[in-house]
Amino acid sequence: MNTSDSNLPSNFIRYIIDDDMKSQKFQGRVHTRFPPEPNGFLHIGHAKSICLNFGIAREYQGKCNLRFDDTNPAKEDEKYVQSIKEDVEWLGFDWGEAPFFASGYFTALYDCARQLISKGKAYVDDLSPDQIREYRGTLKEPGKESPFRNRSVEENLDLFQRMKTGEFEEGAKVLRAKIDMGSGNLNMRDPVLYRILKAHHHRTGDEWCIYPMYDFAHCLSDSIEGVTHSICTLEFEDHRPLYDWILNTLEVYHPQQIEFARLNLTYTVLSKRKLLQLVEDGHVDGWDDPRMPTLSGMRRRGFTSNSIRDFCERIGVAKSNSIIDLALLEHCLREELNKTALRVMAVLRPIKVILTNYPEGQTEELESENNPEDPDAGSRKLTFSRELYIERDDFMEEPPKKFFRLAPGKEVRLKHAYIIKCEEVIKDEQDNIVELRCTYDPDTKSGQVEKSRKVKATLHWVSASHAIDAEVRLYGNLFTSPNPGDEKECPELKDALNPDSLEILKDCKVEPGLADANGDQPFQFLRLGYFCLDPVALAQGKRIFNRTVTLKDEWAKLQKKAKG
Ligand code: ATP
Ligand code: MG
Repeated sequence: MNTSDSNLPSNFIRYIIDDDMKSQKFQGRVHTRFPPEPNGFLHIGHAKSICLNFGIAREYQGKCNLRFDDTNPAKEDEKYVQSIKEDVEWLGFDWGEAPFFASGYFTALYDCARQLISKGKAYVDDLSPDQIREYRGTLKEPGKESPFRNRSVEENLDLFQRMKTGEFEEGAKVLRAKIDMGSGNLNMRDPVLYRILKAHHHRTGDEWCIYPMYDFAHCLSDSIEGVTHSICTLEFEDHRPLYDWILNTLEVYHPQQIEFARLNLTYTVLSKRKLLQLVEDGHVDGWDDPRMPTLSGMRRRGFTSNSIRDFCERIGVAKSNSIIDLALLEHCLREELNKTALRVMAVLRPIKVILTNYPEGQTEELESENNPEDPDAGSRKLTFSRELYIERDDFMEEPPKKFFRLAPGKEVRLKHAYIIKCEEVIKDEQDNIVELRCTYDPDTKSGQVEKSRKVKATLHWVSASHAIDAEVRLYGNLFTSPNPGDEKECPELKDALNPDSLEILKDCKVEPGLADANGDQPFQFLRLGYFCLDPVALAQGKRIFNRTVTLKDEWAKLQKKAKG
């Protein structure tokens, strides 16, 4: 029996497929598809759909098509096709020999429309778009029939043909299904199937000036490709009767549409329209800005495809809408980076430390482990010297009671090195602290002393003359509102933007070994978070470190609390 053999938690979609396998509904075939419209970049919500569709195909040894739903040339572009392919591949999925395009079926779809007309099930309507809306009625009131509804088959075939040859202006005519203007489902009130659009198409050029509507193109594309389970988000539940009506009326192969709840994520918008608005209004630096929830933005920020697949598995699929805590996504990422990131030291806001009792010109090499979580990661040598940098925040001249880091007369340990004590604070004429004079205790070398004095803090540091300069970018949530996608909560998206979502630090000092880093290696800057080299800057010969995520795992904390 060819049912699911994975260890993944089951869900209602797998149950439906298992039943279909038993009843041989599709002769034991499983064939899904992921059908993006190339009108924007893919986001983490799409990743849920990709993992689901490609994942199911993989599990049941079936197929999953990548199909571009390119039926609206006014909004679509080849650059989006390219980015979508890149993202699906990056997520680790394979669409077989070639992707499919709804535009590849334009001739077949046109023929289907003619067949509907011939069956008396579609008509050309001259009502304007506004009139069509008006005639459609509301949820409480039935619609009104168009005066053009009862044109003869011959007249409809002739007009439809003339629509195709470009005789009429945009908006002058549409082709509509002839279903039921009194239906309780608005989608069934003679929906528009074709419209005139005199736009250049990224694949078919100027060959067509009529384009099929989504509901018409989608079910027929599924049918043509032999899809068995057409999995889509809940908004399409009300469209399913139309999906079924078109395929039944045309008496063609009929896939099963199944709806699941889309992904919503706190502090995030997942709508291409809104993401495009952020790009166009200049609130972010392009679709792949590291703050964007797009797969290209997340990749640039340092998210791994593993962690995204893991996240999609953990959230599962359900039949009712909910909003997932962004902390879970970050938790999945941290879990992976904790195992793979090399521990290094970087100082983001440096202040100079001079060890007055360390001989001038002397240096020593200190052994430093690369990753305590990975015994194979080995260690490296770090150079220690008389002049160091530590984090400005790690020093306070007048510390409050609970501040255990460096302060006048206080001791701290320097990671992998010695205990130091602050003896003197040097200030400039404006009273700014410019330097700390400290002493080190040579008897406290890390790893070499059995019982060293206990100090309450261990600080990261770099050697001033050995460290290299770096630019570092810290990111916060793009929005301050936990649910910016909700239009009631957030009618104006720009009002919910977080003004502090990007902080650029240009005077950072990092370990010299990072000069050889490449874009593929994640790092943990000790005490500061996980970082990666920005691949876009790197391609331009610049080295900028993006903070992927901080170390604070809010999700793990919540889980601990829940367990009591
Ligand atoms: P958006 O709402 O971002 O504009 P869309 O539905 O218009 O998305 P499509 O290109 O049509 O974008 O999406 C391709 C597939 O991805 C569809 O099957 C859609 O249901 C699915 N999808 C889109 N957004 C989500 C989401 N947030 N969660 C799960 N699946 C999604
Ligand atoms: Mg869509």
